[in-house]
Amino acid sequence: MDIEVLHNIDLKDFSYFKIGGKVENLYFPKSIDEFIFLLMDLDNPLIFGGFSNVLFSSVGVKQDLICTSKFDKFDINDSYVKASAGVRGAVLSRACMEKSLTGFEFMSGFPGTIGGNIYMNASAHKQSISDTLLKVKVFNTSKKEVVELLKNDLNFGYRSSVFQEKPYILLEAEFELSVDKKENISNRIKENREFRKTHQPQNIPNVGSIFRNPENNSAGKILDEVGAKLLKVGGAKVFENHANFIVNYDNATSCDVLELMFVMYNKVKENFGIELKPEVKYFGDMSEREREICKILFQR
Ligand SMILES: Cc1cc2nc3c(=O)[nH]c(=O)nc-3n(C[C@H](O)[C@H](O)[C@H](O)COP(=O)(O)OP(=O)(O)OC[C@H]3O[C@@H](n4cnc5c(N)ncnc54)[C@H](O)[C@@H]3O)c2cc1C
Repeated sequence: MDIEVLHNIDLKDFSYFKIGGKVENLYFPKSIDEFIFLLMDLDNPLIFGGFSNVLFSSVGVKQDLICTSKFDKFDINDSYVKASAGVRGAVLSRACMEKSLTGFEFMSGFPGTIGGNIYMNASAHKQSISDTLLKVKVFNTSKKEVVELLKNDLNFGYRSSVFQEKPYILLEAEFELSVDKKENISNRIKENREFRKTHQPQNIPNVGSIFRNPENNSAGKILDEVGAKLLKVGGAKVFENHANFIVNYDNATSCDVLELMFVMYNKVKENFGIELKPEVKYFGDMSEREREICKILFQR
């Protein structure tokens, strides 16, 4: 198969954080057949969609990478929506609004794809991707087979899904949305976007929330209480309007971000006895110092 591939590229050119060293091969399948072919053929590749929840090591990544961004077909039939893994949530949100379908307004404000959003069980503004999901087609990488799973098989929780526990790669998903007036949907999308303009970094590299919210608490609030907004390490600093966002304001390395996360984690632990858990996913080869920090932060 003649599948698009880039060689020896800098991951910082792709990741939302604008951080990351070299990777030898980055593949871009355009169809389910190409995607499955790669999953069968490559040795344990890493899969990404929008690269909007990842921190890549500045040292680089040894494994092959597959990016689903060009596997981006979708169909809308009445209130049923079928989408490939690489469809941008924001694109689908707009298309559903045009058909007067509600349920995807929350996805208009951040850069995730359907695959990444389901893996993370992405949510915002009282909506989540699992609310409307009916079933998925997945590739089981240990059995090398395609299976269909229903929503109840997917173990959804706060920022968690079966995809984080089992060797499953999302290929396609089907949803059922509800009907509402287009004007109401459009207004909700506008409100969501306005909220982000005032609360989140604009045009400065970041990956959204760095830590998950502890149970019945807000990571942003407790980080603010320990003075995190004043913290910086190298080219990475905490965003001045939201203490749970790290921005790459000056060519930060993965080590800068990890060191900063470690300071934030330690301050919260010392002051509140809470051990924050990262929401961002880390990939790649680690320096000695990164290994030490990851052992504690990511428990690996
Ligand atoms: C400005 C900004 C605002 C944000 N706001 C929110 C928010 O409000 N709510 C929220 O939930 N998140 C938010 N995020 C975080 C991020 O957009 C989400 O986590 C999103 O779901 C990640 O999707 P992605 O396609 O970019 O995934 P990636 O970053 O490419 O990957 C994330 C994880 O998903 C896995 N993955 C990706 N595709 C597949 C697949 N097909 N099969 C199996 N695994 C896969 C990857 O291996 C990786 O572990 C925000 C990010 C930014 C930059």
